[in-house]
Amino acid sequence: MKYYSTNGEAPDVTLQEAVVKGLAPDKGLFMPETIKLLSASFFENIGSLSFQEIAYPVADAFFGDDIEKDTLKGIVYDTLDFDTPVVHVTDNIYSLELFHGPTLAFKDVGARFMARLLGYFIRRQGQKDVKVLVATSGDTGSAVANGFLGVEGIRVYVLYPKGKVSRIQESQFTTLGQNITAIEVDGTFDDCQALVKAAFLDKELNSRLNLTSANSINVARFLPQAFYYFYAYAQLAKQGKADNIVFSVPSGNFGNITAGLIAKRMGLPVRRFIAANNSNDIFYEYLQTGEYSPRPSVQTIANAMDVGDPSNFVRILDLYGKSLNEIKKDISGEWYNDESIKNTVKKTYAETGYLLDPHGACGYQALKDNLKPNETGIFLETAHPAKFLEAVEGIVNVKIPVPEKLQEFMKGEKQSISMGKDFDGLKEYLLS
Ligand SMILES: *Cc1c(COP(=O)(O)O)cnc(C)c1O
Repeated sequence: MKYYSTNGEAPDVTLQEAVVKGLAPDKGLFMPETIKLLSASFFENIGSLSFQEIAYPVADAFFGDDIEKDTLKGIVYDTLDFDTPVVHVTDNIYSLELFHGPTLAFKDVGARFMARLLGYFIRRQGQKDVKVLVATSGDTGSAVANGFLGVEGIRVYVLYPKGKVSRIQESQFTTLGQNITAIEVDGTFDDCQALVKAAFLDKELNSRLNLTSANSINVARFLPQAFYYFYAYAQLAKQGKADNIVFSVPSGNFGNITAGLIAKRMGLPVRRFIAANNSNDIFYEYLQTGEYSPRPSVQTIANAMDVGDPSNFVRILDLYGKSLNEIKKDISGEWYNDESIKNTVKKTYAETGYLLDPHGACGYQALKDNLKPNETGIFLETAHPAKFLEAVEGIVNVKIPVPEKLQEFMKGEKQSISMGKDFDGLKEYLLS
């Protein structure tokens, strides 16, 4: 299948080109040329299928023309070796827990899939020594580093701002060793991102090295996120509760929710979606006014959603032919400031015993505020609350047990390379 650019000024590319390049040369985002409708029989049986059995036909609809069946199946099954259970919270509200993977956040799904797909392309071409650069403010670095850990032919460089990520987050990409190198930049997240951008624009670096990016806009990270929408539906279908499903998605760059919209296009019977934001309410404002006015992000306790110019907004526009009316038929919006996020976490824990993380709290509250009696709401619990230990413990006033997986990371020894924020230092290092 071909992939086109949302900006419409670049030639269509193959899957491999889209994955290796990440961004189209006209700065647009790649979209699959066709979104295939899955068969009625698939949906009839879906309640009896496993996560992997559901994900494979979804993956096949996008990637089946470009990868041999057995290989693709292997990639899907290997990526999804953990569960994403739907858990009842209260009344007609369910949590889709996406935090049972290696780094306890939903980004594991996309990062693990992309690592395996890129690994396959590299082997097929007989390439070695491909360098993946990624800048992180915390969560992306851990998912990408763990996704690519041990993948042959690839070395990953995670650039992160010194002193600005939590100790738990830092331990998830600085203690791995093998093909993962953590670069601690004396600067901000923006400096890290600027360094990565400069590296991709540097002619000499690109002529001497095989550089690629594992950014969240990459189709190989973005599309696999559709898998768990189908699986969530299947879990409720099994209980006879899958009529009128509403997905509420805590959103930052809007990749996760866009994958859900694509699942709907493939025939998944979803009534509607809610985009739940923190104080960065650019999309909410767009839905109210029809004006899209990106602005610098503001810092919140749901920090993985601190995005002032959501990169996947153009994909949503593209899916709906740029029509605000069409978009509003499928998506509504909500936003919550830190104060109300804290209230939600506290109140929900007291009333139901379910501990939300600050991101999931936005999704949950949006269902509380919107859901009609005949609808069933599923919010995406995008990370484990222990990833935001200090914040969440401060809200509920109890000690949260840290999952073993997280504790293991924290036992490891930190290895990182210190660097200034000037590009020459990074360039010299990469070339050495
Ligand atoms: C990345 C992230 C989000 C936002 O997801 P998008 O796809 O960028 O909208 C929400 N919650 C958590 C925990 C995240 O890490």
